Amino acid sequence: MNKLSCEIVQDLLPLYYDEVCSPDARQSIAAHLATCEKCTAALNKLKQSSNLPFEVITKNKQESNALASFKEHWKRSKVASFAKGLLLASTVCGVILIGYFGLFSWNITKVPSSAIEITEVSQLRDGRIAYHVKLTDGYRLNKISAKAGDDGILYITPMRPVFKSKTDEELRLGNRYDVINLEQLNTNRTDPAKQIKAVFYGSKDDNPFLIWKQGMKLPPATDLVEAQFD
Ligand SMILES: [Zn+2]
Repeated sequence: MNKLSCEIVQDLLPLYYDEVCSPDARQSIAAHLATCEKCTAALNKLKQSSNLPFEVITKNKQESNALASFKEHWKRSKVASFAKGLLLASTVCGVILIGYFGLFSWNITKVPSSAIEITEVSQLRDGRIAYHVKLTDGYRLNKISAKAGDDGILYITPMRPVFKSKTDEELRLGNRYDVINLEQLNTNRTDPAKQIKAVFYGSKDDNPFLIWKQGMKLPPATDLVEAQFD
């Protein structure tokens, strides 16, 4: 085997390191390296100088991949959170709007009996019961709920929104004559046990005003009241 000079070996080291030289040359170089510190040092230097950048490049590439995928993820999650945020915001807005208008318009609270004044309860010539209702607290009334249970007791309950409105001019439903037609109410109550036995004005659990109950004799309506319902 020819002895190689350090100069030749070091010229061939890059090929040796890249493992692209012939097996013969490889063997000769390896043999030289085994005995030559100088060339081994040169090889190590070559390894360092080429390895380091390669590792750095690899690392950089991984980092940039990671960065790219993070960016992509961030972009996607940003879009997703924006959509979620928008949905949440519009839902919240919707709830607030509904709630806001609801508090002013849904008739969900009962007018307290202390604010209700029932007068002139009387019987019209056709048998209907007439009465005058006035709400004394000065708030407007928009809805009256009338419910009769299977016990035959009818509750006529004035209802209001949570935020009630004051009225200067007229109380609408809150100041007028009203009428109850027992005969009509009983047409769908074929079971005698379920026929209307009593009529209250107000809320069931708030000491309502008794307008009429079975066996009660009401005074005849005045001509003025009769005129209201002609
Ligand atoms: Zn050498």
